[in-house]
Amino acid sequence: MVKKIAILGSTGSIGKNALLVISSLVARGSSLEKEKTQYEIVALTAHSNVELLAEQARRYKPKFVAITDTEYEKQLRDLIGDLEVEVLAGAGSLIEIAELEEVDIVLAAVVGAAGLGAVLAAAQKGKRLAIANKEPLVIAGELLTRSARENGGIILPVDSEHSAIFQAMQAGRREEVSKIILTASGGPFRKATVEDLQNVTLEEALSHPVWDMGPKITVDSATMMNKALEVIEARWLFDMPVEKIEVLVHPESIIHSLVEFVDGSLIAQLGEPDMCLPIQYALTYPARVEGIAKPLRLEERGKLTFEKPNLETFRALSLGFEVARRGGTSAAVFSAANEAAVQEFLAGKIKFADIVGVIEHCLNKHNVKRGVSLEELLEADAWARREVAGCLKRKIC
Ligand code: NAD
Ligand code: MG
Repeated sequence: MVKKIAILGSTGSIGKNALLVISSLVARGSSLEKEKTQYEIVALTAHSNVELLAEQARRYKPKFVAITDTEYEKQLRDLIGDLEVEVLAGAGSLIEIAELEEVDIVLAAVVGAAGLGAVLAAAQKGKRLAIANKEPLVIAGELLTRSARENGGIILPVDSEHSAIFQAMQAGRREEVSKIILTASGGPFRKATVEDLQNVTLEEALSHPVWDMGPKITVDSATMMNKALEVIEARWLFDMPVEKIEVLVHPESIIHSLVEFVDGSLIAQLGEPDMCLPIQYALTYPARVEGIAKPLRLEERGKLTFEKPNLETFRALSLGFEVARRGGTSAAVFSAANEAAVQEFLAGKIKFADIVGVIEHCLNKHNVKRGVSLEELLEADAWARREVAGCLKRKIC
């Protein structure tokens, strides 16, 4: 059997790791006794990194490439004009790729809400959705998971914590789960106080102690907004009430998360902090095959430590729990306000400590709607972005 893969966001941190994983699966290919599956890269996409996308097209020979920022379309066509590949362009091209007959697995590795339409399209077409792009799950988790269920699709987590939970869940029945425990590295400011966070620079926020990731998620890890988004992500992926979700700080990032069962057993998944492993599992599931991730040797690690998250310093995390409880349009506002605020921070326009303030301002002003459609979620997202722009312009948050 050949599994044909589209990577949405192939030039990013997850996308590049996914290409390494798939290359290794392709190289081992037919020699695998247990898993007779072959893997093929059918489509690659990028937003603006046209040189890298062209290089990837030359190397991996997909049938389709898409560039979402149309400003780079001509350059892309010039760079790969000699290749036999169909070039698509514009924001809608992600959906076209996700819906392709030729695609079995959509690996969603775009950052932010920009990936929402394509992941929904993949779910509606009943494809296997290997999802790293957590924001769509936060914004429209209910719609997305329902759509996959109703159309015979499957959503497999790539986010390391959720992959760990997904693996640990297999030790019992869903109704036997008493708690999900998401681990968190704590980011670069784990020991900081509220005052310390006032003077954080962009460079400091971008230096994650364990993980090497794209800029948005790196800043999200520094505010612990990433863990807040992951609480909501887990709520939908595993259909768990928020009361059964906890966060545990584990600076070494070796235990990727845990599931507690009603008999008191805690089942965890461990590994080196390396995204190649969860990416591979989302592609090969239910099979496990040899991969490129280095096996963990616990004796080399010596000791693992744990602490409670500091909810006073990391207000984003308590907001995340509150938003997960509120439901409706609040998570769309939470995620979009963060995306807009992080963009401003990355552009040097606001301070690190203002990110969470801006998000809180939006949440306080927003009238939550329940039982909502995709249009209403997108409206809430757009409202939050306008609100962030407006309040920064008027300097009121
Ligand atoms: P990144 O910034 O390194 O890469 C983002 C990719 O998305 C790039 O290929 C870029 O071209 C594309 N992109 C950016 N803006 C776009 C737009 N408007 N339209 C279409 N494509 C666009 O990000 P990343 O670190 O690889 O993260 C990708 C997603 O995976 C995020 O949602 C993140 O939260 C999640 N994730 C990442 C990691 C990690 O280790 N990097 C771990 C867990 C989850
Ligand atoms: Mg994660």
